[in-house]
Amino acid sequence: MRELDVVVIGAGQAGLSAAFHLRRAGLEPDDGFVVLDHAPRPGGAWQFRWPSLTYGKVHGMHALPGMELTGADPDRPSSEVIGAYFAAYEERFGLRVHRPVEVSAVREGPGGRLLVETSEGTYAPRALINATGTWDRPFWPRYPGQETFRGRQLHTVNYPGPEEFAGQRVLVVGGGASGTQHLMEIAGHAAATFWVTRSEPVFREGPFTEEWGRSAVAMVEERVRNGLPPRSVVSVTGLPVTDAVRRAREQGVLDRLPMFDRITPSGAEWDDGRSVEADVILWATGFRPAVDHLAPLRLREPGGGIRAEDTRAVRDRRVHLVGYGPSASTIGANRAGRTAVRSVMRLLEEAGRRRNAERAGAVAP
Ligand SMILES: Cc1cc2nc3c(=O)[nH]c(=O)nc-3n(C[C@H](O)[C@H](O)[C@H](O)COP(=O)(O)OP(=O)(O)OC[C@H]3O[C@@H](n4cnc5c(N)ncnc54)[C@H](O)[C@@H]3O)c2cc1C
Repeated sequence: MRELDVVVIGAGQAGLSAAFHLRRAGLEPDDGFVVLDHAPRPGGAWQFRWPSLTYGKVHGMHALPGMELTGADPDRPSSEVIGAYFAAYEERFGLRVHRPVEVSAVREGPGGRLLVETSEGTYAPRALINATGTWDRPFWPRYPGQETFRGRQLHTVNYPGPEEFAGQRVLVVGGGASGTQHLMEIAGHAAATFWVTRSEPVFREGPFTEEWGRSAVAMVEERVRNGLPPRSVVSVTGLPVTDAVRRAREQGVLDRLPMFDRITPSGAEWDDGRSVEADVILWATGFRPAVDHLAPLRLREPGGGIRAEDTRAVRDRRVHLVGYGPSASTIGANRAGRTAVRSVMRLLEEAGRRRNAERAGAVAP
């Protein structure tokens, strides 16, 4: 068991931002803190995103604190661009990320410490910064008849790019940014595409203003403060209308059907008698926070979410959640890293004062 001040789980945008601020606050990697990540390479979840998601197609990647991302080729896959940028960042600030290291559980430890159980042994920190994102927990809803479908079913997490769907009939489920991007790519290759969403998609004209972003973040923040499972920031901002989206709408690629009532061996059916035939169902139904390893700490509220104020878990002030709920965007993750480190440093100072007072008490006559 290794004692140190802080363990950061996850080396995506949120974890690296936290690590940067921990260094600035005076903690040393591998001494005061350690960053653990189970992915094989730098890049957080970006390293796994499909090759056709080029850097030019991402919605606005905010640079990590202290180092800009400049001169990136917009036609290169974002997995490569951001992977290389994160690798350079880790190197520049000497963050010494341990990978691949799986964190399986975090539980209560001795003397007010936490125990972080990992594939490289157990750490016993005074505070935890959890930055595990959502990519590891794809959400697949269940519908009647799903197991009878004879075609292929896959999720955004396994989306290989559009070429594999040449000549096929593809049913895309989900009204978020991933669903619309998949449709726009696949439509040029597939024999037919269909789009099914639970609610009417909201398209937003005009630039993504700061005020619009702030109000979306405030809505997610409110849910997290009330202990409800967070919604993605994108789900409350609506779908930005780019030139590509405008063209796709004109061509009918983004004509949406309501949610089907059941899946059949060859497609999907609605109670009103409509049906579609499909070779593929692509579930672009989003992700949930990857926080199962925190279960032993019992942080969840009856509403199903972890209640957090700023980044601090209300049920355990040693635990900070960054990239969670309102901070699940590149800009939000950056800020959350800084907020969490401020709070962690206060906690460490308090703990230090308490230890000094106890020692002074122990030697007092
Ligand atoms: C398809 C897609 C496109 C997006 N596009 C944009 C965009 O254009 N702009 C934007 O601002 N946001 C975008 N987002 C949101 C984006 O996910 C966040 O902005 C941000 O990149 C998330 O950073 P993160 O550090 O929270 O998570 P991640 O990048 O997911 O990093 C989490 C890290 O934790 C590690 N990890 C997880 N569990 C464990 C464990 N148990 N043990 C050890 N390590 C673990 C993972 O390996 C990973 O490296 C997009 C999201 C998706 C799904």
